[in-house]
Amino acid sequence: PPKKPSSNQTDPVGVYCRVRPLGAEDEECCIEVISSTTIQMHTPEGFKTNRNGEYKETQYSFKKVFGVSVSQMELFEHVAKPLVDDLIRGKNGLLFTYGVTGSGKTFTMTGSPGQGGLLPRSLDMIFNSIGPYQAKRYVFKTDEKNSIEIQTEVDALLERQRRDNNLPILPFFFNYGYGVDDDSSYSVFVSYVEIYNNYIYDLLEETQEDAIKPKPPQSKILREDQNHIMYVAGCLEVEVKSAEEAFQVFWRGQKKRKVANTRLNRESSRSHSVFIIKLAQAPLDADGDNVLQDKNQISVSQLCLVDLAGSERTGRTGAEGTRIREAGNINQSLLNLRTCIEILRENQMCGTNKMVPYRDSKITHLFKNYFDGEGKVRMVVCVNPKTDDYEETLLVMRFAEMTQ
Ligand code: ADP
Ligand code: MG
Repeated sequence: PPKKPSSNQTDPVGVYCRVRPLGAEDEECCIEVISSTTIQMHTPEGFKTNRNGEYKETQYSFKKVFGVSVSQMELFEHVAKPLVDDLIRGKNGLLFTYGVTGSGKTFTMTGSPGQGGLLPRSLDMIFNSIGPYQAKRYVFKTDEKNSIEIQTEVDALLERQRRDNNLPILPFFFNYGYGVDDDSSYSVFVSYVEIYNNYIYDLLEETQEDAIKPKPPQSKILREDQNHIMYVAGCLEVEVKSAEEAFQVFWRGQKKRKVANTRLNRESSRSHSVFIIKLAQAPLDADGDNVLQDKNQISVSQLCLVDLAGSERTGRTGAEGTRIREAGNINQSLLNLRTCIEILRENQMCGTNKMVPYRDSKITHLFKNYFDGEGKVRMVVCVNPKTDDYEETLLVMRFAEMTQ
């Protein structure tokens, strides 16, 4: 079984900052990138930042700051590439985008046509690294207990998937390795969930959106498997054979998220979206022809890509009634995330073993294993430099400062 690293052996949580370009020429700018690791906030007129009313300018430091001219490719190479390398070496990774609505979280994670973000680039790198696949009589299938079973009845499985889930994406199996390790077979699964108001929904689950009275989506629960790995029970994990196919699955979930949020009158900026890429590796037999039929030899690693809810406070949207409760929960979950990252960092830097309160919200509970010190955690703090966002951006900076 894979060795569990202790928390002080892991790489500390890395916090990056990305400054998006201003949206219009007449917007005023309150952020200046002054070095590759530091930004300066310029306090606008009318904001007194201390009791004496002194005009105070503050600098904030990050592992790295990406200014407006930094391309999606450069960002990927600094932030996500090391995590994909880890994934292929059997290690876990977790990547968040954090910031106010409109600050560029989704642009950074997903991107726009022609400017793919971290997610499609990661998928591309994974499939390029594990090489061309070759269809085999074996497939991996994650069952309800979060364990991986080797299935030999490929055709029966394909047929069942088609019938039960009406999935356009078919399971597959592929061969060949990454780098020096050519003796393994790989298999990639993706899942996509949304956390809204502290409930988890499966975005890949088939629902009858076309029905006259569609059933409201059922929330999922978190479980811990016998290896103490957290997973979303009953969540669909779709096996994909190419980056295109994986991205197609992502888009399908994304579309469903929009439809459901519109129908249920929800604000999608208030939900966290979590895309999980799971990589299963199994050694081949001595001839290199067949997968060893030994469950203990399968290694599973995962990369979680999380587009967090907007960090803005409730007052800004003038929320009322249920909206306040929703916003309350979101703030609570982001606050809890902050607390967890702070303590994790402290444990990593000081070698302490303080309890991380990840159980306090779903978004952190799902990532329990990372807070236990398994796998790298990275966060891209996105900011819009416009002066109108000054107050909210200042809170984002303070959040980032607390976590490093
Ligand atoms: P968020 O997800 O944080 O609410 P978005 O990613 O949707 O914000 O960004 C808001 C708008 O700004 C989008 O139209 C997006 O294309 C644009 N945008 C954000 N960041 C950048 C960037 N670095 N370069 C160019 N356009 C950007
Ligand atoms: Mg967004």
